[in-house]
Amino acid sequence: MIRFALHGGAGVIERAALSAQREEDYRQTLGEIARDALGRLQAGESAVAVVEQAVVALEESPLFNAGYGSVLNADGLVEMDAAIMDGRDRRCGAVAALGRIAHPVSVARAIMDDGRHVLLAGRGAQRFAVEQGFALLREEQLVISARQQQLIAAKAENKVSLDHDQQFDTFDPEDRTGTVGAVARDAQGNLAAATSTGGMTNKHPGRVGDSPLIGSGTWADNDHLCLSATGHGEYFIRAQVAHDVAARMAYAGNNLLDACAATLAQVASMGGNGGLIAIDRDGHLALPFNSAGMYRGWVGADGQVRVAIYGDEAG
Ligand code: ASP
Repeated sequence: MIRFALHGGAGVIERAALSAQREEDYRQTLGEIARDALGRLQAGESAVAVVEQAVVALEESPLFNAGYGSVLNADGLVEMDAAIMDGRDRRCGAVAALGRIAHPVSVARAIMDDGRHVLLAGRGAQRFAVEQGFALLREEQLVISARQQQLIAAKAENKVSLDHDQQFDTFDPEDRTGTVGAVARDAQGNLAAATSTGGMTNKHPGRVGDSPLIGSGTWADNDHLCLSATGHGEYFIRAQVAHDVAARMAYAGNNLLDACAATLAQVASMGGNGGLIAIDRDGHLALPFNSAGMYRGWVGADGQVRVAIYGDEAG
C-alpha cells in the first residue's frame, strides 16, 4: 500500500499572516509535488527515489527554507543541512553546513550511495559534491532578497529565529518559509525519509541543526517507521526526536500516533516547538505539530492527495 507525506516547515503560521494568494501558492506547490510523488510510487519507483525527488522539488521552490531561498546565517551566507535514509537497510547519507550547492539532498543521496560515510560537513561536504559532479554555485545564487531583510531584522533583535516564527516589524510575514521533508512507503512496503533546510536565521556559522542528524530530524527503518521533523533544531537534537519515536514503538509497543505525541510532549516540556511527518510499516500516517501550523501534504488510505497549513485543519 502506497503512502506519502511531505512538509514545508512548522512554526507560527496563522491565517492573518498569509494573503489569499500566498496561501494558494503554498497549497498548489505542496499539492503538485505530492501528486508527482504519488504518480511515481504508482509507477513502481522506490520510496527512497521518491522522497529525494520530492525534496529536490521543494528545494527548488523559493517558498521554502531549503536550497534556493534558504535563510542566512550571521555572516549573511547560506549554509544548508540535509539527510536521506533508506528503511530497507538503514543506509543513509547527510550533509551539514553546506554552501553553494543547489540540491543538498542529492549530495546526501550521493554520500549514501557511495557508502563510505554517513555525514559530511562544511568544506569537505562541498568538495565531495564537486567530486561527484555537482555544480558549485556563486554564494549569491541561492540568496533571495527577502532573506537579507529577514537577517537584518533578526540582527536588530539579536535573535536566532525559526523561519516561520519570525515576527519582526521590518519583516514581511508573507516571506516566512520553512524546512522541507518527505516520507514514503512504496508498493513493496519499503520506507524512506528525507529532510533539507537552510536552518535558522542568524545562526552562528557552522551551526548544525537536527535535520541532517540521523535519529534527530530524519529516520527510516522498515520495521517501524520513516520520519522527517521540523522545528527548533536544538530541542529536536536534545530529544532525539526521530529515533525516540522509533524506540517508543520498538520497545514500549506504542502505536505511531501515541509514540509521536509522547515524543513531541517531551520536546514541548523542554520549551521546543515544531512538528513531524511519519508513516509506519503498516501505512498509518501521522502529521503532528505543537506549533500554530505546519505546511503539509499527504496521500492516505483513500489514495487522495490532501494539503493543509493551519492547526485547525484535518491532517
Ligand atoms: N529544524 C530546522 C533546524 O533547526 C529548522 C526548521 O525546521 O525550520 O535547522
